[in-house]
Amino acid sequence: SGVRLGDDFARGFPDLGVPWTAAEAPTPRLLALNDPLADDLGIDPAYLRSEEGLRLLTGTHVPAGATPVAQAYAGHQFGGYSPRLGDGRALLMGELADGRDLHLKGSGRTPFARGGDGLAAVGPMLREFLVSEAMHALGVPTTRALAVVGTGVAVHRDQPLPGAVLARVAASHLRVGTFQFARSTGDLDLVRRLADHAITRHHPQAAEAENRYLGLFEAVLDAQASLVAQWMLLGFIHGVMNTDNTTISGETIDYGPCAFMEAFDPATVFSSIDTQGRYAYGNQPPIMQWNLARFAETLVPLVDDDENAAVETLTASLVTFPARYQEAWTAGMRRKLGLPAAPGRSESEAAASGAAASDAGESDEGESDPVEPLLEELSRLLTATRVDFTSFFRALIPAAGGDTSAVRELVGELADGWLASWRALDPSVEVMAAANPVYIPRNHLVEEALDAATAGDLGPFSDLLVVVTDPYAERPGLQRYASPAPPDASPHVTFC
Ligand code: AMP
Ligand code: MG
Ligand code: MG
Repeated sequence: SGVRLGDDFARGFPDLGVPWTAAEAPTPRLLALNDPLADDLGIDPAYLRSEEGLRLLTGTHVPAGATPVAQAYAGHQFGGYSPRLGDGRALLMGELADGRDLHLKGSGRTPFARGGDGLAAVGPMLREFLVSEAMHALGVPTTRALAVVGTGVAVHRDQPLPGAVLARVAASHLRVGTFQFARSTGDLDLVRRLADHAITRHHPQAAEAENRYLGLFEAVLDAQASLVAQWMLLGFIHGVMNTDNTTISGETIDYGPCAFMEAFDPATVFSSIDTQGRYAYGNQPPIMQWNLARFAETLVPLVDDDENAAVETLTASLVTFPARYQEAWTAGMRRKLGLPAAPGRSESEAAASGAAASDAGESDEGESDPVEPLLEELSRLLTATRVDFTSFFRALIPAAGGDTSAVRELVGELADGWLASWRALDPSVEVMAAANPVYIPRNHLVEEALDAATAGDLGPFSDLLVVVTDPYAERPGLQRYASPAPPDASPHVTFC
């Protein structure tokens, strides 16, 4: 047994990584292991539990042929550009047999650590395990968590905390910030090779496009429009949508200050450092478009030798983002409401109409879609009632069949008129039951589980993990896991 790791990135992109070794973990202790993911990767979970396996998961055992590197990247953080971020406390161990990355977080200082200690505490690493696995179970593209191993090293935050390393599996760790870094070197060939690598690895259909680099850009636009739509449909707030946390693959990455919205409010922010609300729930789609504009800038010289033509071409693509997002979001809302997909609207038509000039009168569009006003009215209802987002959609399931008691309990009679218009469209209970989770990683439950784990009790973490990784199956007696924080709870705040 053992794990074979490729060194494609390390070998192919020496300018984008520094070969590096993890810090010692004096007393490694397995805190969480993702057996199904290990199986899926063809790795024997028993090996990962062995002494050598634990050393692999903390980076001190390097399989023959592997070259762990700290990856270089730049990034806009809260709108301000940092030319040199990179893996300050992380390492790319190498590529797994299926082509995905094995990456460690919390494995010690690297040349990119700046003032940081290179370490991670047990709580935040278990949070990433819990939330990323919940997102996976909810069908959202995401990096995965393979394991969390306690290191035996104390991490000094506002108090000493037990340290840990997260082993993460991802389609890759290429970010918008990786392209920004490559572009800033002035080496065009490097940017081109990086783009070709991203195409081969994530968006092979782009190679068929007339202009493969424009094809890459559009593939990432689509992947990210769809991703943010899925976040919005679940009330997920990423919390730190910097360009270094925006992947080229379209996977969610970096579960630092993330949290789920309970009471509906587009202005919801949890992160202690997001004082301006830049990354508020309702801002996520436009922020993603802003991040993709930064990606577009890195591709200018690849798209056309004529800079003005390249900018024009990329801009024309970029401005289709809102329509792409709207299309994905509306399709998801239809599923949440148990309604069939929009009739007779191909994706390209929808994208075109979304981007079209506003003087196209409604009258010449033929029959109007009754779902559009329903969605507008729903948005007003959610805003007015500040209802718990997740519970509301789940309460609609019995309401589809006429039992409105659960909805009444949440919003009183305010939804009655809306419910009547919606029920007239004959919603499908089966579709709704598969689109609206009972269980999400609710902030107060996550905190409770992480506090217990930090104090040495992994019970609440394990119990919560079981529930959030099977989110659509209602479990009798577990109402606590399906309910928002009690009204007297102090407001949730996250830190990264
Ligand atoms: P993040 O906000 O998690 O996306 O991280 C932004 C940057 O800070 C990345 O370059 C990280 O590697 C770096 N960083 C975060 N925490 C630490 C730490 N404890 N030690 C060193 N670098 C860190
Ligand atoms: Mg990050
Ligand atoms: Mg982070």
